[in-house]
Amino acid sequence: MKIAVVPGDGIGQEVVPATLPALTMLSEAFGLDITYDVFDWGADQWLATGTGLPPGATDRLSRDYGAVYLGALGDPRIPDMAHGRDILLGLRRGLDLYVNHRPVVLEHGVIDLYRENTQGLYSGVGGSISRSGAVTVAIDECLYTRETVEGFVRYCLGRLREAGRRKVTLVHKSNAVPNTGRLWQDVFRRELEAFPELVGSEEYVDSFCYNLVRDPTPYEGVLASNLFGDIISDIGAALMGGLGLASSASICPETRFALFEPVHGSAPDIAGKGTANPYAAAMSLVMMFDHFGHGAAADLLRACVRKTAGSEAATPDLGGAGSTRGFMDNVMTLLGHELSARAGTAVARGPLTAGER
Ligand code: ATP
Repeated sequence: MKIAVVPGDGIGQEVVPATLPALTMLSEAFGLDITYDVFDWGADQWLATGTGLPPGATDRLSRDYGAVYLGALGDPRIPDMAHGRDILLGLRRGLDLYVNHRPVVLEHGVIDLYRENTQGLYSGVGGSISRSGAVTVAIDECLYTRETVEGFVRYCLGRLREAGRRKVTLVHKSNAVPNTGRLWQDVFRRELEAFPELVGSEEYVDSFCYNLVRDPTPYEGVLASNLFGDIISDIGAALMGGLGLASSASICPETRFALFEPVHGSAPDIAGKGTANPYAAAMSLVMMFDHFGHGAAADLLRACVRKTAGSEAATPDLGGAGSTRGFMDNVMTLLGHELSARAGTAVARGPLTAGER
């Protein structure tokens, strides 16, 4: 399988290259045959040529690649993030990546947060009227199609069941935003009927945020529309201990094509210093291994990244004095030890017997 690697801007150009050797090492160790090509889509290219996502890029990606691994998009020279919107929204819409999965990893366990990724208030429908250069009327429409909400809810419930989760919460605001709110509630209730293992509940987004910050332990699976999910995922990152720790996958359930990226942005304040935390980027690779069914590679990388976060190699945001490279060098050393210990065990045990196979 081939991955399209897009380091992007700012610390994306540091954390993504630092994590690629781990991708190669695990691919070789587990015989996964994963290769990648690097694309320089981002602020520099936008400023030099005016091109964000090159024409035909999504067709090429869906034909020749299985996934995108993205660093971050954002640059102080482009304050309206026009290039970021062009590239990221172009990828999400062009590849129909309408399910966004953001695991919130806490001490008590994981909350699987799922955000609809292409419609709602981000559908791009709207406009404004100006008088003497000042905007006087502005409209952004919240648009949802039943097909997308059904596909989203069904896929997420399936993933939650696979992961052995028991509870799922729909976050909505149907008292104030009744039309799309009722569509979501109706689809959620109907789809849940096919998942008797899951207990569903519904919460207004304001009280959900209040409850989540006060006590996240009751939540297991959370489903939210685009804007609500965007906001909740930043609360989730804060609960985890910082933006440097949160990772995400944007998935098209029909094609399985997916885009993996850390939740953080380009962090211009620390870009170029070599101190950005590569944890979230590396965990995006963990999500990628998991998504494509390579659970053993995912588990091993996850364990080595977590161990490094608690070691002397931890970066300043985690209270350490380490660097991006130093963090990933430590991960590579741990992976090397672990893989050679396993190879040693395999040799010592000899070939599998017919029964074991
Ligand atoms: P953008 O405009 O691209 O969204 P931003 O600086 O506004 O960038 P983020 O990059 O998401 O937003 O992060 C906010 C702050 O969190 C950063 O300024 C940085 O201090 C910190 N931060 C984010 N990611 C990391 C990371 N990987 N390692 C260390 N600190 C980080």
